[in-house]
Amino acid sequence: MAGVITEPERLRAQALKGLVLVNLGSGAAAGLKWRPRTTMPTVESLDSLRIMFDRIGADAEYIARVFHSDSRLLALEECRGDWRPVVDKLAQQDPGQESIDSLAAKFRNHVQPLERARGTRQKLETSWNSVVTWAAARDGLKLLLPMSESTLQALLWDAISLGCSLPVLKGLVHAVQARHGHFGLTKPISGDGQYQRLIKSLSRFNGTQHRHVFPIHRDLVVKMLQYEPREHGGGVCDGPGRGCKDCWRSLIEWRNALCGVAHTIGCMRPDEGHNAQLCDWWPEYDTQAGHLEFAGGAALNISQQKNDAGRKGAHKRFGKSTDPSLDFVDQMAQFHGAAGMAVSQRCQKRLRPAERCRYCPPLWPRATRNKRGFDFSKEPTADMVSDWIVAGLGQAGLDTTLFSGVCARRGGLSTAIEAGVPEVITWMQSGHAQEKAARRYVELKSPKLLYATWAAFKL
Ligand SMILES: [Zn+2]
Ligand SMILES: [Zn+2]
Repeated sequence: MAGVITEPERLRAQALKGLVLVNLGSGAAAGLKWRPRTTMPTVESLDSLRIMFDRIGADAEYIARVFHSDSRLLALEECRGDWRPVVDKLAQQDPGQESIDSLAAKFRNHVQPLERARGTRQKLETSWNSVVTWAAARDGLKLLLPMSESTLQALLWDAISLGCSLPVLKGLVHAVQARHGHFGLTKPISGDGQYQRLIKSLSRFNGTQHRHVFPIHRDLVVKMLQYEPREHGGGVCDGPGRGCKDCWRSLIEWRNALCGVAHTIGCMRPDEGHNAQLCDWWPEYDTQAGHLEFAGGAALNISQQKNDAGRKGAHKRFGKSTDPSLDFVDQMAQFHGAAGMAVSQRCQKRLRPAERCRYCPPLWPRATRNKRGFDFSKEPTADMVSDWIVAGLGQAGLDTTLFSGVCARRGGLSTAIEAGVPEVITWMQSGHAQEKAARRYVELKSPKLLYATWAAFKL
């Protein structure tokens, strides 16, 4: 958003930073670091403002509430479903050493913050740092917790005058409200419908249209499935096993194409591709359950989707294509063979599908630094997966400025809707909040409907 900041807005932001420095005093101000790329001036670490709280005589409890932080990756998140060994480590060997207070403290530290996903906690914390920085500039450090509605309005007006977008303004409100909720304080916005009225007043002038990007539709999926390996640029090919550059470039491009196809047909977010492992790919899944009409198909086990706080996961289906040259499931098998990938003998994924497997490689592996191999030890980031989807389209000759990683999911959903796939099924495919209804629906039927989105692509 920094690109659209006007000169007067920039000057006001600088003046606000100046006020923080003056209030902090010359000694402490010297080492102050600002967060880059925030419209609201925000200190990198709240610790640099700690001295000001001592000066205003804030008590220990007040300081603890302002500085409370839960944005780090918690042990029970890091384990990704394999939580029992983690609890074994956190729990006392001897229950006699625990008191009701110490047990409650453990719950509050390790479990309670999980009511919000980690990304949400990180965003709230950044916004909270902006709020505290603002208060440091405006002599308002005593007014933070609890905060009056009037103080919140002052904060929002300053933020508006700096050119903050609606999401930034909402972030400030959410951060203030959440912290009050956490400590059981009365929120500045608490009356019936008051929050909606506030957001309405902000959206009325600050609402913006989304950047339009195209969905990935059937013809683009076909183009990606028609990927042809590169011609070798002369010389002898040693094969990928001996690090042939051209062979590896082809394998990397093929991965991009397959990644784009899977995310489109599976209506997936790049985050799901980032978490997928080779052992989450289950060829002949429904055939094994006796549904022989789905021979040649596969399921992709998604252990956790966005908005899936219950870790219920999903099994996306991919069928066998009528046109053998467009057979995604078959191409996946060929790709994994060519890249030398296999499910580990020690893999326990089928027994515990919700847990991360310690032995198997990522389903879409990242390339090594020299691009002459895949690095199976690290999973790709969600941003990488998003880039690969776009790169897959670029290889197919498309202008990639009109696409982003979300286009895959959007393309899958719109293709399914146009083909008349029942809404509950698309909900389920995409991990929408209403998926509970979808789940009940499909438990009664054969897996046929789960192939409906795949079928809509007519491959
Ligand atoms: Zn080669
Ligand atoms: Zn495994």
